[in-house]
Amino acid sequence: MDIFMQAAISEALEGLSEGGVPIGAILVEKGGIIGRGRNRRVQDQDQLMHAEMDCLRHARLTGGYHNTTLYSTLMPCYLCAGAMVQFGIKKVVVGEAKSAPAAMHFLLSHGIEVVDLDLPECQDMMHRYISENRDLWEQFLGELNPDFLSPESSISLRHNLRPGDVGYITYLHGILYAPQQGWDHTFDSYVAIPLAEFAKRIGLRERIWILERAGHIVGSVAIVEFSQEEAQLRWLLLHPDLRGRGLGHRLVEEAMAFAREAGYSSIFLWTVDSLPAAASLYKSAGFLEKEKVTHELWGSLVTEVKYELALK
Ligand SMILES: [Zn+2]
Repeated sequence: MDIFMQAAISEALEGLSEGGVPIGAILVEKGGIIGRGRNRRVQDQDQLMHAEMDCLRHARLTGGYHNTTLYSTLMPCYLCAGAMVQFGIKKVVVGEAKSAPAAMHFLLSHGIEVVDLDLPECQDMMHRYISENRDLWEQFLGELNPDFLSPESSISLRHNLRPGDVGYITYLHGILYAPQQGWDHTFDSYVAIPLAEFAKRIGLRERIWILERAGHIVGSVAIVEFSQEEAQLRWLLLHPDLRGRGLGHRLVEEAMAFAREAGYSSIFLWTVDSLPAAASLYKSAGFLEKEKVTHELWGSLVTEVKYELALK
């Protein structure tokens, strides 16, 4: 395992042995550890003393934080993500992101590189702590912004485009897909050009769905008029923080219902074979695979897949 993540885990275990929450953090500069910390919520009776805060507080800085990388056993919360933004830390490596409400979208949208190692060791450590300290954990969660605990309560959907939407939806496609898939900036053009044209004309048989959480765009889908008979489903996007809640299904279902009402005979879409979650979403909605093309695209070798659904 990554030696720095190993050091963060050691900090977490040290905290656990003190009766604390097992979350550890390490600050790295030029290949060396310059700071260590662990969550001291219990030990110090201080709700602001998260592992990352403890680590930043005790770091031996040579200059600023700008060239440092933060390692944390758990995806940072808004407090710690805010500290990273405040001090200009450009990269965070996390052990896992599933055990507690986290601020991944916030980090990404502030230009911070996020690497999620998704380690079973880190998840097990938190799961064991939470199951053995249920009351305490509930108490900690009770201190948080309720929107983080039931994100659905702050989720809304709209159809009107506002200034900035075209750019922001393009940006989300870029940061959420391109690095993970190994695509270059030309993927942005693939999203931006037709999206900009769509924004200019939006026809009577066309619609966009923009999913927002607490006022920030976290998802989208659109029905585009390809011909009198054929609708094209485009720009399906759902932020990773919100996956697994049925929101992707809801977007696709709404788009299908609209296309049916608008009188199209069929809907088609293009996706890539390296997005299995999207493929299973389309298949479960009744789409059938029609065509596969492998070619050089977006600085990479991409296999595009066409799916189709008959509406009549
Ligand atoms: Zn935190």
